[in-house]
Amino acid sequence: MKELHDRILKDGQSFDGGILKVDSFINHQMDPVLMHSIALEFVKRFSDLGINKIVTIEASGIAPAIMVGLEWGLPVVFIKKAKPKTMGDMYTAQVYSYTKDRTYDVCVSKNYLGKNDRVLFIDDFLANGNAALGAKDLIGQADATLVGMGFIIEKSFQEGATRLEKSGTRVESLVRIQTLKDNYIEFL
Ligand code: 5GP
Repeated sequence: MKELHDRILKDGQSFDGGILKVDSFINHQMDPVLMHSIALEFVKRFSDLGINKIVTIEASGIAPAIMVGLEWGLPVVFIKKAKPKTMGDMYTAQVYSYTKDRTYDVCVSKNYLGKNDRVLFIDDFLANGNAALGAKDLIGQADATLVGMGFIIEKSFQEGATRLEKSGTRVESLVRIQTLKDNYIEFL
């Protein structure tokens, strides 16, 4: 996606260790115009698949997910990273975070995910795929159908895309990055 590619080159910051900072337009301050273009691209790539629910994981997946939900008029469910006291019956899984170097629980209420759901999962980054595999686990526990997973940015030098594809999941990433070093970004 050229608009996103150009914006990453203009405003993204890359660091040794393979980290890309996009805080000025995706992860902290957000550009809703770009986010809308991102949603339209997901809608194009996943059209005609009978999707009836968008699922994401808090927090950075929520903005693109809700824009996709708005385009299609579909409900958007975000997986929570901490169990709220008010949540009753739920599905839970464990996810290891690469950026925070810790394991955390993720959960979703049984009220909002079930066997009649055909799910599109949306998130900001695909790195090692742990967050996405945690989401896939929850979707499986609910007996829902995972139709595909869409990511704004795939770090293709990490193993997430391969792990997901090996598990039979369709993956669509709007940009794919091959190398990230201090001040150096190479796209696939
Ligand atoms: P994974 O579970 O695929 O290893 O990592 C996915 C999650 O880690 C994303 O939802 C994102 O929040 C975070 N993440 C992984 N790599 C990066 C990165 O280079 N930059 C930013 N901003 N977040 C990242």
